[in-house]
Amino acid sequence: MDLSSRIAIIGAGMAGLSCAVALQQAGYQPTLFEKSRGASGRMSTRSGAGWQCDHGAQYFTARSPEFRAEVSRWEAAGVAALWSPRLQVLAGEQAHQRDAELLRFVGMPRMTAPGHWLAASLSVEAGHSISQLRRTAGGWQLESVEAGWLARQFDIVLLAVPAPQAAPLLAPEAPNLAALAGGARMRGCWALMLQFESTLDLPFDAAFVNQGRLRWIARDNSKPGRQGPETWLLHATAEWSEARLEHDAKAVQADLLDAFREACAPIDIPAPQDSSAHRWRYADSFPALTQGGIWDGALGLGLCGDWLNGGKVEGAWLSGRQLAARLMHS
Ligand SMILES: Cc1cc2nc3c(=O)[nH]c(=O)nc-3n(C[C@H](O)[C@H](O)[C@H](O)COP(=O)(O)OP(=O)(O)OC[C@H]3O[C@@H](n4cnc5c(N)ncnc54)[C@H](O)[C@@H]3O)c2cc1C
Repeated sequence: MDLSSRIAIIGAGMAGLSCAVALQQAGYQPTLFEKSRGASGRMSTRSGAGWQCDHGAQYFTARSPEFRAEVSRWEAAGVAALWSPRLQVLAGEQAHQRDAELLRFVGMPRMTAPGHWLAASLSVEAGHSISQLRRTAGGWQLESVEAGWLARQFDIVLLAVPAPQAAPLLAPEAPNLAALAGGARMRGCWALMLQFESTLDLPFDAAFVNQGRLRWIARDNSKPGRQGPETWLLHATAEWSEARLEHDAKAVQADLLDAFREACAPIDIPAPQDSSAHRWRYADSFPALTQGGIWDGALGLGLCGDWLNGGKVEGAWLSGRQLAARLMHS
């Protein structure tokens, strides 16, 4: 592929960023289009009055040598660090420690830090929600909700967005890829962030909850580099969340706070000072596919994302690298 190829990457989450970095290192100059205000996607942090809380990805593991080396670069840059929470599995009477030997990393001082660090050396056009792709003799045209059809055309378009958001973009020009994305199931997740006046007297910093409405709870301020008050994050199970995706956030908040109190009983959980709920419509892939990056050289069209590579942050990063490698070797 010619180094002067005009490349657009839709989505500046970890997959799009890793793909763009790999292409840039090889001499290409990709442009990322991102619908949010900034990069990092589901590796995200919400800020309130004087507090912050990671409300998407909670931590990441690094099992492959390539990603472990990347995480070492992030650590050296001060944008990621090991998190060693006091971790429990709560299952009624059988609370026990879990996976003490597994290394868990987090962005530092917030989960967005690695994504923002990668984006700093890339061309990211934020605030562009791409709504249509059109293939013409001059190349690919992109329409954004905010700016209409963009004047620039591209030789290559790479989609690094969740499968349900990729499917409608692919449908007019690449029905087979649209069918693949349309068939990938992604599940929702309600998140609740809670800020307390003082430290909760709980014997853990994070817990997998294997019963009821919750699947995960974590003391956000136990992660390295965090400042500010006592802040907890709750994630509801996929089943519970999916059944309530359209419910009012206030009702969800009340339900999940009750569930937190039940999970922590008999320790008393006071009323939070502040709270905020967030609905993730596409949190995880179930089951995630294992194709890695997909490249169609005839169309000049590619796909990457966690949903194509086992889910999770590491899968997203590897998927972006795989797509870049396939494109470069075609
Ligand atoms: C609640 C929750 C908990 C999680 N917990 C963990 C965990 O503990 N460990 C772990 O490893 N992973 C976890 N994950 C998963 C992890 O966050 C993802 O695997 C990873 O961040 C996905 O990266 P991605 O680049 O594939 O997708 P995303 O991060 O979703 O990036 C896609 C980007 O595309 C943008 N976009 C979408 N559509 C358009 C469009 N039309 N135009 C322009 N831009 C668009 C989005 O705004 C987004 O920035 C969790 C996710 C959630 C939501």
